Amino acid sequence: MAYEVASIPGDGIGPEVVDAIQPLLEDVSSAFGVELEMTRYEWGSERHLQEGAMMPDNGLDELAGYDAILLGAIGHPDVPDHVTLNNLLLPIRKGFDQAICKRPAILFDGVESPLEEYSGGDIDFVVYRENTEGEYADMGGQEHPGHNHEVAVQSAVFTRTGTERIVRAAFEAATERNGKLTSITKSNAQAHSMVFWDQIVEEIAAEYPEVTVERLLVDAASMDFIRRPEEFDVVVASNLFGDILTDIGAIITGSMGLAPSANINVSGEYPSMFEPVHGSAPDIAGDSVANPLATILSVAMMLDHLGEAEASDALWAAVEEQLADSDAPRTPDLSGSARTEDVVADLRTRI
Ligand code: ATP
Ligand code: MG
Repeated sequence: MAYEVASIPGDGIGPEVVDAIQPLLEDVSSAFGVELEMTRYEWGSERHLQEGAMMPDNGLDELAGYDAILLGAIGHPDVPDHVTLNNLLLPIRKGFDQAICKRPAILFDGVESPLEEYSGGDIDFVVYRENTEGEYADMGGQEHPGHNHEVAVQSAVFTRTGTERIVRAAFEAATERNGKLTSITKSNAQAHSMVFWDQIVEEIAAEYPEVTVERLLVDAASMDFIRRPEEFDVVVASNLFGDILTDIGAIITGSMGLAPSANINVSGEYPSMFEPVHGSAPDIAGDSVANPLATILSVAMMLDHLGEAEASDALWAAVEEQLADSDAPRTPDLSGSARTEDVVADLRTRI
């Protein structure tokens, strides 16, 4: 099968990595007959600095017909983060109704976690993050600038439809995995939105009696991601809490450079988007030392979403095998001295 994929390499290490993995995608194509035909869009912060916008006005129309979107990374020292987020990532996530963000946190064999007690394969959970509303609903405003009664309001929006959708997807995932779901809230302090969330979890839990449900406040969960990460299976959280927790998930599993993610359009009406959890990492951009594995695993998630399980599994297996091999090249984030291309070249021998 051939799929049309819109590639947005973006900023910083994004383009380096997206370029570097191209040969690997060709290998997957010849080994499994699954072709990802990439069309490149030079959108991102450089475009914003030159033309005043990260992407063209009709950007979403351009992307709408693709089977999937691959995003490298977005973020630039000269462009405020809220601009990069609100002018490219959020419009795509919201415009294409990518309501579910899936972020696995896996400690691979051969990778050391900064949490010393957990030294091999124990951490394996997935965070289902609500992706289109909640605290990132972009509602609010500022009043009385310059006065001492100046005020800023940022509203969080939880719809029944949106909340049910993410919670149900998480229950489904728990059914396919180990039957445990942890729901993250702050319902002691946020008596409207989070109590509503709890209520929906309870309603949907009744449909999944085989799933064990655990409820955790986000502050306790942050602690438990460090203290007992091996006990999580599926974690479901709002947009903001999921955002924060998945960075913890990425770092306890060894490196930001290993964490993939999927932004899923549930209806199938629009393309889903696949991207590493990490950002543009300006501190190492241009040095060809970025770890490409987070992006490669994001491609594996894309293949799985497209129904190409065999090719997806092969990519995962190649990454697992490489990480477990102490002689294989590793980038500096994993205490190695290899370059991005070396890691890709080695993986090609494992497909
Ligand atoms: P952004 O503003 O785009 O989010 P950032 O400076 O916050 O960028 P991140 O990409 O979020 O940087 O990651 C934080 C740090 O983790 C980086 O500064 C970098 O040192 C490291 N890092 C992130 N991704 C990778 C990678 N793929 N390979 C190696 N190191 C990485
Ligand atoms: Mg960042």
